[in-house]
Amino acid sequence: TTSTGLTTFNPRWIRVNTLKMSLDEALQSPTFREFDEVSGMTDMFFFNTVQKHYHRKAEMLPDIFAIHPSHDVVSSELYKSGAIILQSAASCLPAIMLNPPVGATVVDGCAAPGNKTTHLAALVGVTGKVFAVERDRRRAEVLEKMTGKAGTEKIVKVLRATDFTTIGEGHEAWSARYLLLDPSCSGSGILQRIDWDISKLSLPRIPDKSSKGPSRKRKRGGLDEGSNAELPGDQQGGQQPSDDAEVLEQDANKERLQSLADFQLAIVLHAFSFPNATRITYSTCSIHAEENEGVVVRALSSETAKTRGWTVQSREENPLAPWHRRGILEEFSSLDADEEERKRVAKGCVRVNRTDSLGGGFFVVCFVRNAGEELRLD
Ligand code: SAM
Repeated sequence: TTSTGLTTFNPRWIRVNTLKMSLDEALQSPTFREFDEVSGMTDMFFFNTVQKHYHRKAEMLPDIFAIHPSHDVVSSELYKSGAIILQSAASCLPAIMLNPPVGATVVDGCAAPGNKTTHLAALVGVTGKVFAVERDRRRAEVLEKMTGKAGTEKIVKVLRATDFTTIGEGHEAWSARYLLLDPSCSGSGILQRIDWDISKLSLPRIPDKSSKGPSRKRKRGGLDEGSNAELPGDQQGGQQPSDDAEVLEQDANKERLQSLADFQLAIVLHAFSFPNATRITYSTCSIHAEENEGVVVRALSSETAKTRGWTVQSREENPLAPWHRRGILEEFSSLDADEEERKRVAKGCVRVNRTDSLGGGFFVVCFVRNAGEELRLD
């Protein structure tokens, strides 16, 4: 309940799979044609007092709209046929930020269950290619089902039981120019995990190129392996969560976060070494700085970043430029750069709080290589 006494809701976000139909076709379909469009709201995204039979298109986020969470969309024909995908608006940010051109080759480095994979497929279209990498065999099966249902078989190639960090020279995905990285994280931004306790979670294996031994068995805990808030029957919509500050206070296990951050950093650093890569997004559904700005600082400070010319894309250059919540400047104090550059990097990052009505807390940043390099590759 807000200070004005209104009960607030997190909307149910829906992405239209443009490989099957357009946003307007979806809104004019029997499932949604009775809904009226909400307009005249002052805030770009704010949508928490939405009435039952309204929909709202998400400005800045093409092909995405929201409805009241009480509607049963899972039994609709549109959902069953893969024409609409239940995906929070926050989770749609990485593919939009990566902005691969039609026909591009993209690697989705940590892909299952595949929400971002099918989004990428819709963006690159039938002339493009998406390599969807998933280390976990069982989760790769879900990924295959999801990409199949979305009609992306000709675009997406699932690399099942493949560790992203083992992709190297000679691999068909090695020449990709665009990469989307959404590795396992603490999931502290997920709405239904308000009482989540990081000390009880199991850790993902930290990629170790020297070790060829079997991977450690991992128990499915509260660790966000699958953005399951985006699967059918999820709790994406519902009552607003408590404040982010409250969650941070609850989860004080720094050591645990550091181990997750080490794993996430290894994923980013491996992506930096793809020879033709020019744009890489890194995202988490965590609100912890260690997994977000902390990973960005460490990645930019690496030798690979320096020798290969990786930096953070400036806010102005990105489709998400109008979004108001950016990276936390203080978290970049250890970055070896002047104040101006630190500010530029912080502004290049996008943050979503759990109370922003986009379906949960989220972080995304786009790394780019310098323009000279990009021109040479063209
Ligand atoms: N991007 C997905 C989506 O939007 O549906 C969610 C990805 S989930 C947060 C992280 C996934 O990365 C998990 O399925 C996990 O098994 C996988 N993963 C973790 N480490 C990996 C690695 N080294 N290589 C490939 N996949 C990995």
